[in-house]
Amino acid sequence: MSKITLTHKSKIAFVTDENGTILPTVQNFYNYCAERKLMGTKCMKCGAIICPPRTICPKCLKDKFEWIEFKGRGKLLTYTIIHFPPTQFQALAPYAVGIVKLEEGPQLSGMIKNVKVEEIRIGMPLQVDYETAIPKEWPRWARYFFKPE
Ligand SMILES: [Zn+2]
Repeated sequence: MSKITLTHKSKIAFVTDENGTILPTVQNFYNYCAERKLMGTKCMKCGAIICPPRTICPKCLKDKFEWIEFKGRGKLLTYTIIHFPPTQFQALAPYAVGIVKLEEGPQLSGMIKNVKVEEIRIGMPLQVDYETAIPKEWPRWARYFFKPE
């Protein structure tokens, strides 16, 4: 895990406070995904590590965080196969959506790709990768997915 500077220079519009601090919002989480970084936050009071970020710490209810970069690796806790997806994902069906326990601790849900659905196993090591295209439909954020290591 490495800290990043908060005076972040990017073409992507990060949501910041009046001091230029990048706020712990879901939009900013996806802004980092567009930079191919899986970022979470660490509560500056109790040390809880949270991903995707929230504006309030679920453990101690404080609202001061620092961003930390995750390795993007974890193990599959559970998954489901989607056969009847929402319209925008219809071309992908059937596909798998899983919950991955990240090495840093948090559990993150996401699509599992680059593997046949029948070869997916609970406990398999997965790593985050990023879609190269920004979706045409809202929300037009860069998307991450999981794939086998
Ligand atoms: Zn906390």
